[in-house]
Amino acid sequence: MPIIPKNISQINQNIQKTIAHNTFNEQVSIVAVSKGHSFDKIVSAFDAGIRNFGENYLQEALEKKSHLEKFAIQWHFLGPIQSNKCKLITENFDWVHSVDRVKVMKLLNDFRPLHMMPLNICIQINCSGEETKSGITINNAIESLNDLISSLKELPMLKLRGIMSIPSNTENVDQIITEFKSMYKLYTELKKRIHTVDTLSMGMSNDYALAIEHGSNLVRIGTAIFGAREIKIKGSDN
Ligand SMILES: *Cc1c(COP(=O)(O)O)cnc(C)c1O
Repeated sequence: MPIIPKNISQINQNIQKTIAHNTFNEQVSIVAVSKGHSFDKIVSAFDAGIRNFGENYLQEALEKKSHLEKFAIQWHFLGPIQSNKCKLITENFDWVHSVDRVKVMKLLNDFRPLHMMPLNICIQINCSGEETKSGITINNAIESLNDLISSLKELPMLKLRGIMSIPSNTENVDQIITEFKSMYKLYTELKKRIHTVDTLSMGMSNDYALAIEHGSNLVRIGTAIFGAREIKIKGSDN
């Protein structure tokens, strides 16, 4: 079997094994993170059953999207969001996982074409405390989330689906588990308050099984599906 379908089948098996052993009893969605990978690899993953693809850089994503129009793909935006990119992001994506401020929410709402479904959004949480990371810091997350949530009432073209996080870049598993647990706690609190919330987006190539063990139901996997990132498409520096 070629490598991409083989990787996907291995990941599916690992996910099923992990779900069978945990108490959350949920299905887990895979977003294949295709940044830095070419069209033909996306098609290969699509043929192996993947329907959700994630990209971090707008220009790179738009170029791929126009080549892949005939494929029924759900596109997820995962990268940092600049205000001047909001119009193209909301016109071209089904999900945005990296929302972290009201200003961006307003722009994504206002530019969302009315004939489209509301844009699915996750709020990015900085669960590691590292200052270089984007997202709302976990320590005062509830207060910051309150601001974002109250603004949602006037933003009918957005649908809040959940929260997303990238954990600390560390080998210390206990540290990562602590972060996953605080994310799960925040997620359950949010879910109680907002009925559209159903997504805890955490877990990447190196830690997706651990994330699922701690309640994740959407994993974003690049390297473990496609191998090391190779191409740098023009404009991918955003
Ligand atoms: C690149 C990226 C991923 C995928 O990372 P891998 O380690 O290659 O699986 C997931 N989420 C976000 C936000 C990313 O930027």
